[in-house]
Amino acid sequence: MPEPVFSSIAIVGAGLIGASIARAVGEYGGAGAVSLYDASDDVRRRAGELGLGEVAETLDAAVAEADCVILCVPVGALSAVAAAAVPHMKAGAILTDVGSVKGEAAAALEAAGDGRVHIIPGHPIAGTEQSGPEAGFATLFREAWHILTPGNDTSDDYVAAVDALTRFWQALGARVETMDPARHDRVLAITSHLPHLIAFNIVSTAFDMETVEQGEVVKYSAGGFRDFTRIAASDPVMWRDVFLNNKEAVLECLGRFSEDLAALQRAIRWGDGDMLMREFSRARTIRKAIIDAGQDSGAVNFGRNPLPEPDSDT
Ligand code: NAP
Repeated sequence: MPEPVFSSIAIVGAGLIGASIARAVGEYGGAGAVSLYDASDDVRRRAGELGLGEVAETLDAAVAEADCVILCVPVGALSAVAAAAVPHMKAGAILTDVGSVKGEAAAALEAAGDGRVHIIPGHPIAGTEQSGPEAGFATLFREAWHILTPGNDTSDDYVAAVDALTRFWQALGARVETMDPARHDRVLAITSHLPHLIAFNIVSTAFDMETVEQGEVVKYSAGGFRDFTRIAASDPVMWRDVFLNNKEAVLECLGRFSEDLAALQRAIRWGDGDMLMREFSRARTIRKAIIDAGQDSGAVNFGRNPLPEPDSDT
């Protein structure tokens, strides 16, 4: 394993992302030691049983020796957790996060700063619909983008800190890019936040439809609905916080989306097959571009893995 970038890191929030970082460090390096803290007694116990690292009983103890503290809590909790962590961190240490929204997250981290620690917000473009420490896995960040939104500090120390954090994420297999927080939030609004909102909404609409039995919705879900339910199974707290903290960009995208949907509605009403063909064909080229860019597999069973054989004893 190569020389670790950091002697020790602290992970605050031992859920899907926190546990995945801990497992990735165990597998690929990046840090010599990992300490973890989670507000939940139960999550701390489970993280200890899973062997994710040194589980601390307090936030202060978890962050005290770390060269880099990674906040892996919901976006709405970042402000309070950053403010509680910073006074206990070493001078010159890095404070980063993994929040799915960057404008508000960067502001929360900056507000907690005391000039002694380097604040470098970040977001791994990788995840699943699962939560909790058991959901974490070492390969989550491999070949995935990790976006850093550094501040304007041009001092040598800050530049070196950004470089170290970049090398840390690269050690876990990620491809690192830097971006302005507002731009990040606009890009993610269309690539992640709006798709989740649509998934939450379509699942809710299907279950509210009086003309369709709920049993039929589940039974015939392979017609497309099933793929939406996977996305809509994502953690409600995380997604509530994403929408509350990326309001403007999401509302902007939603406005455009609603206009385009109305155009499709009109094409269906007036039997405009040419328009439908044009739009659907364009969508196919985007899917091809995503596969060509290595951001997904073109395998025909993607997301539709065979179901396990029924248990012969039952
Ligand atoms: P998760 O599995 O629910 O884990 C979050 C953990 O943080 C939970 O164990 C939670 O405990 C704990 N926590 C909440 N408030 C805390 C506090 N004040 N102090 C310490 N621990 C606290 O969520 P996740 O999916 O890992 O998401 C974590 C962050 O990653 C979020 O900011 C999210 O936007 C970002 N992210 C998620 C994904 C994804 O696909 N899931 C992808 C990229 C980035 P309780 O359960 O007891 O509240």
